Amino acid sequence: MNFLKENIQEVEKNIEEACRKSNRNPKDITLICVSKTKPVEMIEALVHLGYVSFGENKVQELVGKIEHFENVEHPKLDLHPKLDWHLIGHLQTNKVKYIVDKVSLIHSVDSMKLAAEIDKEARKKNVIANILIETNIANEDTKFGVTKEACLDLVKDISRLENVRIQGLMTIAPYVSDGEENRVHFKALRELARMIESCSIENVSMKILSMGMTGDYQVAIEEGATHIRVGTGIFGERQYHI
Ligand SMILES: *Cc1c(COP(=O)(O)O)cnc(C)c1O
Repeated sequence: MNFLKENIQEVEKNIEEACRKSNRNPKDITLICVSKTKPVEMIEALVHLGYVSFGENKVQELVGKIEHFENVEHPKLDLHPKLDWHLIGHLQTNKVKYIVDKVSLIHSVDSMKLAAEIDKEARKKNVIANILIETNIANEDTKFGVTKEACLDLVKDISRLENVRIQGLMTIAPYVSDGEENRVHFKALRELARMIESCSIENVSMKILSMGMTGDYQVAIEEGATHIRVGTGIFGERQYHI
């Protein structure tokens, strides 16, 4: 699977270039390899190249892949640090229990109802769930996420939950042919995070900005992304058989 190595080296090069432009350190950027619809063999190949952070958007697929890697029949992988799984897609409340103690970060929390369910399940399993607030920064009808205007109030409400820790914001920017068009949205998300940070809400951190995908991650980095979510740029086009 040489193409994976070539693709990810290209992504690394682009990350470095965006960091150079914006005076940032590439070490401050977490590259989440978005492996949805892709087989575990591809994830394994990336693990062997030293990558540990993977993102999935469907609970069932995520759980299946996590179980695959927990399986003791992967002795070669013992050498590697524990994998770091991210739930990046819409999460239904009835599925929270399957993933709450298995992922390092839930990127897609956009309601108090969902946060309360995460809190409840996290308490049962005696863990603190790290979450991001998904914000529909461009106000698209088709997107999940809280509006920019409602974000602060939601953060304040969720901050009272004991087993949930808000670590920052996430957005899925509009699909555009030129990533540059999304700069304004990435800037807006960063400014929203700054505004919330300035409120010094107990139990709330704004240290993570999860923004930028294959078409626009360089722009997102220039505008302050700490976590980028790249699928196609690493794994190639996805095929959906539905
Ligand atoms: C699929 C997906 C990505 C990756 O998209 P690419 O354009 O393939 O890089 C990133 N974030 C979320 C939430 C996704 O669902």
